[in-house]
Amino acid sequence: MSASTPSWSDLLLGTEPRLRNRSLLTLLGSLVYVVWLLALVLFAMPQQRVSPELGRVFMVLMVPGILLFYPLVRSGRTQNFADPDLMSVQILWGCLIAVVAYATVPTGRAALLQTMGLALVFGFMSLSARTALQTGVILIAMLMAMLASSFVIPLPQFNPTAQTVKLLAASFIMGLITLQSLKFARLRERVLTERRELAAAQLALERVTRHDGLTGLLSRLYGQERLEREHQRAQLTGRTFGVVLMDLDHFKQINDRHGHQVGDEVLVAFAQAAREVLRDTDLIARWGGEEFLIILPDTHEAGKALQALERLQARLRTSVVSETVPALRVSFSAGYALWSAPEDVDVLLQRADRALYVAKNAGRDRCVQAD
Ligand code: GH3
Ligand code: MG
Ligand code: MG
Repeated sequence: MSASTPSWSDLLLGTEPRLRNRSLLTLLGSLVYVVWLLALVLFAMPQQRVSPELGRVFMVLMVPGILLFYPLVRSGRTQNFADPDLMSVQILWGCLIAVVAYATVPTGRAALLQTMGLALVFGFMSLSARTALQTGVILIAMLMAMLASSFVIPLPQFNPTAQTVKLLAASFIMGLITLQSLKFARLRERVLTERRELAAAQLALERVTRHDGLTGLLSRLYGQERLEREHQRAQLTGRTFGVVLMDLDHFKQINDRHGHQVGDEVLVAFAQAAREVLRDTDLIARWGGEEFLIILPDTHEAGKALQALERLQARLRTSVVSETVPALRVSFSAGYALWSAPEDVDVLLQRADRALYVAKNAGRDRCVQAD
């Protein structure tokens, strides 16, 4: 279906998954009100089980259920609320109507109590611990208020003493449901916190495993993963890519003459220089001690790879690579190879490695294209 003609369900519920769930639940709630309204208008009032005045009171009470909750939720206006489903308000509103019905319509009182208990259960899946507790307490308070008022204002076929036992028993059960809802909420909150902590730990771990601690370049493991990905992409799109294996020249001498610390400074400076001269889309990984792998996506000509390497060579000729020994310069040797179907990644790397070997043997500080 094209974007210009959204489906009925998209119009009714929205497209964002959480909004859809929320809208669906609220819409179903609205339908329940419509059924109640029809029952009221078509049966209860014509059969005089409900007086016209009381009927009007119920109609007014049903208006928010039909016209307010669903539009509010569907419009997304509630998404930043603590209870974006308006679950607590909807439960309490439904229960308020049930309490008024309980007080005024003698038929079906037992069913109304069950309905209130059931309404509380709806809170299990979404209410926070605090809202779950509030909802249960308010519902029990409504029942108790009705009971108390029955001692002052006589209600139809309502024996306050007998009802006290019934309503206390019902309140006890609703209290138990509320406690259960509270437990669910706490469990859900704990799972959410743990999930967030796990995601953060995973992210931190990924950062560590994806990057080399000293140079901040991609790690060998992640470089390999990206290389596989580039290989797959190239196979799908036919876009050729290049790889470069490079190795710093006489690096052992730098360590031996100036110390390991200076060697580390050189590695960091080299990584920085390489990042600066390469394209944003190129990837560079620390392949080993002073060996590096560059992946050059979308590179069809060996000349382009060579240009990138020559830019880096030129940069290094003038770059200070150690603050401790400012006169120190470093060079590298490189072997580069362009992929063409159906070559395997391993074979491609072997070709680049052989070319690097040739560059070293030919006197270093040079870049050699693989056969
Ligand atoms: P060539 O030109 O043939 O590559 O000579 P080379 O001296 O660079 O090669 P060799 O492989 O003999 O030496 C590499 C040195 O790199 C040896 C090792 O101690 C050093 N090295 C590896 N990792 C690190 C590191 O993280 N920090 C420092 N400072 N040195 C390292
Ligand atoms: Mg080496
Ligand atoms: Mg070396």
